[in-house]
Amino acid sequence: MYLKEIKIAGFKSFADKINLTLDNNITCIVGPNGSGKSNIVDAVKWVLGEQSVKTLRGDGSMTDVIFSGSKSRNPLNLASVTLVFDNSDSYLKVPYTEIAVTRKIYRSLENEYFINGEKCRLKDINDLFLDSGIGKYAFNIISQGEIANIINSSPYDRRVLFEEAAGVLKYKKRKEEALRKLDRTNENMIRIKDIIAELDTQIEPLRIQKDAAVKYLDYEDKLKNIEIALIASDLDSLNKTFHDTKEKIDKFKEQIAEEMSKFASSDVTLEKIKKDLNDVNIRISNYNDSYIEVSNELERVNGELNILKERSKYDSNDIKVHDNIIKLKEDKLILNNRLLSLKDEINIINDKIVNLDSTLKTKKNDFENKLSVQSNLEKEISVKEKNLNNFIYKIKSLTDYIEQGAGVNINVKRVLSNPKLSGIHNTIENLIDLDDSYSISLSAVLGGAKDYVVVEDTRSAKEAINYLKENNFGRVTFFPLDVIKERFIDDDTKYLLNNEKGFIGIFSNLVSYDDKYSKIIKNLLGNVILVDNIDNANLISKHINNRYRIVTLSGEVINIGGSITGGKIKTSSVVAERHELNNLVSSKKSLEEEIALLNNQLIDISDNVDKFKEEVFSLEKDKMLLEEEKVFKNKQYEDCKLEHDLKEKEINNLNSLENNAIKAAEDNLMNKYYEIMAKKDSLEKKSKVAIEEKEKLQALLEEQEANYKLSNANLRHLENDLKECEIINSKTSVRMDNLLNTLSENYQMTFEKARANYILDIDEDIARAQVSDYKNELRKIGSVNIGAIEEFDRVNTRYQFLKKQSSDLEEAEVTLLNIIDELDTVMKEEFYKAFKLIEVEFDKVFKELFNGGSAKIKLTDPDDLLGTGILINVSPPGKKLSSISLLSGGEKTLAAISLLFAILNIKKVPFCLFDEVEAALDEVNVDRVGAYFKKYSGRTQLIVITHKKKTMEYANTLYGITMQESGVSKLVSVKLDN
Ligand code: ATP
Repeated sequence: MYLKEIKIAGFKSFADKINLTLDNNITCIVGPNGSGKSNIVDAVKWVLGEQSVKTLRGDGSMTDVIFSGSKSRNPLNLASVTLVFDNSDSYLKVPYTEIAVTRKIYRSLENEYFINGEKCRLKDINDLFLDSGIGKYAFNIISQGEIANIINSSPYDRRVLFEEAAGVLKYKKRKEEALRKLDRTNENMIRIKDIIAELDTQIEPLRIQKDAAVKYLDYEDKLKNIEIALIASDLDSLNKTFHDTKEKIDKFKEQIAEEMSKFASSDVTLEKIKKDLNDVNIRISNYNDSYIEVSNELERVNGELNILKERSKYDSNDIKVHDNIIKLKEDKLILNNRLLSLKDEINIINDKIVNLDSTLKTKKNDFENKLSVQSNLEKEISVKEKNLNNFIYKIKSLTDYIEQGAGVNINVKRVLSNPKLSGIHNTIENLIDLDDSYSISLSAVLGGAKDYVVVEDTRSAKEAINYLKENNFGRVTFFPLDVIKERFIDDDTKYLLNNEKGFIGIFSNLVSYDDKYSKIIKNLLGNVILVDNIDNANLISKHINNRYRIVTLSGEVINIGGSITGGKIKTSSVVAERHELNNLVSSKKSLEEEIALLNNQLIDISDNVDKFKEEVFSLEKDKMLLEEEKVFKNKQYEDCKLEHDLKEKEINNLNSLENNAIKAAEDNLMNKYYEIMAKKDSLEKKSKVAIEEKEKLQALLEEQEANYKLSNANLRHLENDLKECEIINSKTSVRMDNLLNTLSENYQMTFEKARANYILDIDEDIARAQVSDYKNELRKIGSVNIGAIEEFDRVNTRYQFLKKQSSDLEEAEVTLLNIIDELDTVMKEEFYKAFKLIEVEFDKVFKELFNGGSAKIKLTDPDDLLGTGILINVSPPGKKLSSISLLSGGEKTLAAISLLFAILNIKKVPFCLFDEVEAALDEVNVDRVGAYFKKYSGRTQLIVITHKKKTMEYANTLYGITMQESGVSKLVSVKLDN
């Protein structure tokens, strides 16, 4: 392979297109200073991809290489250079015998590359020439003044030359690519492992939560089917009981009303009998009194008759009659007085009765009012007692639930309840107490960690783990107090947080716990920040560079790094349950106090009612007594009136007697006697009738009293029955309410729907046992996160995907490391091989060019073949130099050319382009170098820019570069003969 043609147009001083045709020999390019020879070297370098304007001797942008104009020419807008290679020997493994590589640049700085006229990338050109000995860094293109750099450069910069010679650049490039890939792989791996580590902390708790949720849903479904059917069946029978008892209650109430009216009428009858009996007694007593009076009267009349009979024996005595009249008048006067006083008394009694009636009316009204208050109170108490029963039921359920270890994982319960295990404290959640409003946040932060068990030390943890393993129980996480370290938020962040909107506090500071658990709580919550809402949480997370976990009151979590976890959280935590229980207990207490208060009021009002009852009764009794007294007084009045009229009549009789004879008086007395006798008989008869009536009334009274007692007993009996029925009825009602509540709250279902869709097709007792079993199972499972099922699937899919990616990356890493290793081995071998060959060649060429002396190259670090620099030690003939820098300029150039030739001897390159490499040499040395050039004739194409005639002598072809037109380089072919 060799460089067949260099085509330049618009590049630097080559405003016009030139075609420099070359052959596979020595070509010298000559010309005066500044004619543009070195621009050809620049052109070649530029096509091969040179990107440094400085290297191309420009100082601005790459447009410096475009012809910038001259006195007679305008600037151009495009520079183009093409190198045409002969590849007929297939030196480059491409299917072309000729390869043309072109680069173009426009004033717009747009670059274009072509291979055989096809547009390509710079990389394609670099790849094409990689390790071919053609390239911008290749040692075969030596710019003007650069030759001494080979000697002057540092051992490490010099190494590039050897690498090029060793052909390891392609490996180096591949290694760089592999290292870049490795870097990217590592970066990806770190990123993925970070995510996996994050997911690792989520996946296991999530799996446990998911399993629990699946199990929970299964039991819940089974429970639902049986419980709804059972409730529907229970409601049916309760409904029947309710209606039966309701009917009974109505019946009992009717019977009681009937019995009450019977009782009341019996009471009235009894009272009436008593009153009648009293009347009869009074009458009998009156009859007796009248009888005694009449008997006395009869005796008196009888006595008067006897006196009259005696008087009639002697004479009539008018004086005596007169005396009698006087006496009778006195009696009449007394009776008159008595009548007046009785009238007054009767009036007083009437007034009293009127007053009593009005008092009685007021009292009765008050009594009715009190009765209605009493009834209202009773109703209110009944409602409250119903509520109280509800509370008691809920408290019992919740207490049982908590005592049985609400929501705690079964394995955790096993550990906590095993007395043989030592050093077991409690679950994390049970050690924490906090404000209700933070419980959602706590659940979100702790997740599965709420069930982690705190133990005294690692020994206790091991013991517990052995116990779980031996019994084939599931997994539990332990927190040994002696191992777990606190986590915290640094002071700067804390300072920052205090000024952040929505910041509530650092979670560990917001919960209460026993001091001895401080490290555990701070480990879990010491670096967690509580914020009011997600918007503020996002802002805060950004401000603190996502370095700490943030949780919001509604349970969203911003993880370290910025990922966000959210969704619904079920907060049936123990903390929440405990708080709810406390609330229920205090509600129950206040309800009990209310009931007690109402009961006291009821007792007061009942006492009042009783008092009123007694008062009304006593007033009625007083009224009755007054009525009786009135009757009695009226009777007295009537009797007194009778007596008064009698006296008057008697007076009238005696007045007439005073004027008639004793006979008339005697007749009168006799008449009176008979009259009294008739009265006496009548009294006897009346008394007898009254006594008989009394006896009857007494018998009736006894009978009525017996009836009264019986009716009273019946009433009590009915009232008891009614009470029992009412209790059953109200219990049934409460039970029905509870069941309907359960239906509506737990299953959002109406009774009708439940009855229509859920039929109990197994035995009721078996169903009840199953409901209890399922509930126990559900209680054992405790609170679950239903969202965990979906969340687990989502996280797990991602987790598995990332795991796969991670293992792919690990594989890729191993592969890349192997490749790098292999590349290193090859590079070391190739490099060392080339070094060894160059070492020998260098000494040889040096001796030849210097005509003696010696040259050596050495590795600065033979143990590091990939990084070692290369030292040069030369001794021109007869000289022993301690340092290479002590060489003269010419010696340095010759030594550098020696090294260049040594390399060219071991590494075949298609062409060499040297720009005045021998400029610093004297005639003799130029000749020696020229002779050496000749050696390569036919083997390696040499293009040499020179001012030295000696060099030109060795050329097969000679080109001249001139600047006839000022500022524009021209190519002239020079005949060697000339
Ligand atoms: P010497 O023998 O002294 O080394 P030379 O023949 O190697 O000289 P070059 O260095 O190749 O000369 O050419 C330099 C000439 O090229 C200068 O005269 C410079 O003005 C001209 N030149 C460089 N860049 C441009 C450009 N963009 N447009 C026009 N002329 C340019």
